[in-house]
Amino acid sequence: MKRRRRSIVSVRRLLAAVAVAGLAGCGSRPEGAGPTVGGAAVTSGAWTNFSGARAMEDVKALVGIGPRPSGSERIEKARQHLEKQLKAAGWVTQRQEFTATAPVRGPVAFVNVRARLPVGGDDPWQRRVSTLVGSHYDTKWVTEFLFSGANDGGSSTGLLLECARALAAVPQTAGQVELVFLDGEEAFVDFTQPIGFEDRGFDGLFGSRHYASMLRAQPVEQRPRWFVLFDMIGDRELEVEFPPNSSLVLIDQALDAAKALGFAMHFGRGREEMTDDHVPFSWVGLGVIDFIDFNSYRRAGYWHTDKDTLDKLSPESIEIAGRVGLLFIERLVASESR
Ligand SMILES: [Zn+2]
Repeated sequence: MKRRRRSIVSVRRLLAAVAVAGLAGCGSRPEGAGPTVGGAAVTSGAWTNFSGARAMEDVKALVGIGPRPSGSERIEKARQHLEKQLKAAGWVTQRQEFTATAPVRGPVAFVNVRARLPVGGDDPWQRRVSTLVGSHYDTKWVTEFLFSGANDGGSSTGLLLECARALAAVPQTAGQVELVFLDGEEAFVDFTQPIGFEDRGFDGLFGSRHYASMLRAQPVEQRPRWFVLFDMIGDRELEVEFPPNSSLVLIDQALDAAKALGFAMHFGRGREEMTDDHVPFSWVGLGVIDFIDFNSYRRAGYWHTDKDTLDKLSPESIEIAGRVGLLFIERLVASESR
């Protein structure tokens, strides 16, 4: 697989971009990222509130719990951390609980955690939202070594919690969004090729399959239009590659958002389809996109190994992914509301 190569020059460019963007939460706007950048109206600026340092605090808290495989006591502790942080940011949560049979393990109790922001005293669960924003929070079930899941499971969950804090200040956008913390993304043995709802022998994507099956039972006009996924976005050498089994029009828009913030060098078009939580949502007609930096982590030998630890991450990478993701989401929401 042909890939862009990272060099010392690009690290310098990263440092320059860090300086321009005011990382570590100072909230300054990069040059050229005004409200009409790229010709598309940006109605709010939740992305300017996103702090990689704050997101990293959540990643540390999650990794501090220990391995968090589905059905374990530790993943329940992770859930309680999510619910506490979401509540503190003003969001309300709902647990979507289900049991599914996993290879080797047998029946496993899974829990997706959904979060919505009440706006103007309404019941947010009665409102239709246009956009689901997701991350898996489970870590791979491993018996041979201690699997921390700092990047794989940790980084994107920290990002999503920081999105909750950043979006809470912009209710006109947040009201159109549901944050979804998905359980059971990881396969217990090996990922099976996702082939649809009738597949009974699958492994992996348990939470997203279940959530999508719930949407399938709803009238089409009540379903969200988009599902935006974040996965493994904390690597120090950030190289997000949007897999081609994302919606191509959404990839274009995400690349535009990256360019607008001066972070284009960290984002590109992937060549390999990814088996990830965005796939089941595409089965129910949602436009989907997967913000994932998979190949560089796998190439380095960190993916699904005892090396997926906090020292491989940087808050700057999470901030770049979070800010680009939020600008992209804000534009999506604005285009739906027009
Ligand atoms: Zn994984």
